[in-house]
Amino acid sequence: MDVPIQVAVRVRPFTYQDRNHDVVCLNSLPHSNQIILGDGNVFDFDYVLPIGCTQSQFFNTAIGSLLNYVLEGYDTSVITYGQTASGKTYTLFGPGVHCALSETEFGIIPRATRELFHQLGECLERNFVIKVTFLGIQEDIVCDLLNTNQFQREVIISEDQYGSVIVDGADEVICQNIAEVFNCIHIGMSNRHANFSSLSCNSVNCHTIFMISVKQQWEADSGMIELRTSKLIFADLAGSERTYSSEGINGWFPGIIKMDPGLTALANVVSALSDPVWKNQRESPPYMESNLTKILKDSFGGRARALFVCCLSPASLDFDESLNSLRYATRVQ
Ligand code: ADP
Ligand code: MG
Repeated sequence: MDVPIQVAVRVRPFTYQDRNHDVVCLNSLPHSNQIILGDGNVFDFDYVLPIGCTQSQFFNTAIGSLLNYVLEGYDTSVITYGQTASGKTYTLFGPGVHCALSETEFGIIPRATRELFHQLGECLERNFVIKVTFLGIQEDIVCDLLNTNQFQREVIISEDQYGSVIVDGADEVICQNIAEVFNCIHIGMSNRHANFSSLSCNSVNCHTIFMISVKQQWEADSGMIELRTSKLIFADLAGSERTYSSEGINGWFPGIIKMDPGLTALANVVSALSDPVWKNQRESPPYMESNLTKILKDSFGGRARALFVCCLSPASLDFDESLNSLRYATRVQ
């Protein structure tokens, strides 16, 4: 994979919520990596998965090679984007809170974790430490989903002297095996759904960031100690319908949908990355506009890799949102 940001498209199957309007408005052509919305809106992406593809198909097609980058020491992120109920959380974690229930339903995170432990375990000459951080971001306020006690410190996202991202004030939990990572997922997901005082981080309006840091150490042939650290960030974004503001209809329902600062900032970063004028000015994209983009900064540009997963509903009633998501995804690549 040579392109810094790649895009994968996944259309979820119909769910019982779609029952009353189950007309498919999307046609995926995986062999040509094209997706067609309605009659004539054709989009090309790096990966287009068949509608109803399995979790393992998705992982093997779009994620497998990313893990090599992490092991080689580069920061990598997987970002799921799409309207509410398009399958973002399902794709990353799996169905429901208990992602360890059925292996076939494992999302990307459990699969990537399993693979990481497997590959690191095979390098007997290397020592490694895996740490997990689980954050929620709502209205640009960052909270630690692994430590919700009342006196928790505010989580601050900043940069070190080399410009690398620092997350200050959140627990980093050392995990010795996959079961311990699952335990972190379980705690964080339960907290995400619980309404605790400082933040009501429900799945719709909150970004969740699951971060795995990998530190490897070994003795090189020269006798020198080699140290390699990298981060694998999974971002389950708030529903993309929050990318734009709604004044309501004729004054009704004002403010139902509020512009999310993280999604807006991410859109600005994505525009900057794809804008030749911006590139020529050699200015850094506006990462500092939100905590979400600050966290993702290290995995955009340079030798880092990011995979943007555009999640879509197949239903024709969601046509407009699907069109918005596909247009957004086109700007990313
Ligand atoms: P989002 O996180 O985008 O709001 P979810 O991941 O919660 O959406 O998915 C909405 C519903 O659709 C859930 O009940 C989920 O289990 C189901 N779902 C999503 N994607 C798939 C899929 N690929 N296969 C089967 N069910 C899915
Ligand atoms: Mg979700």
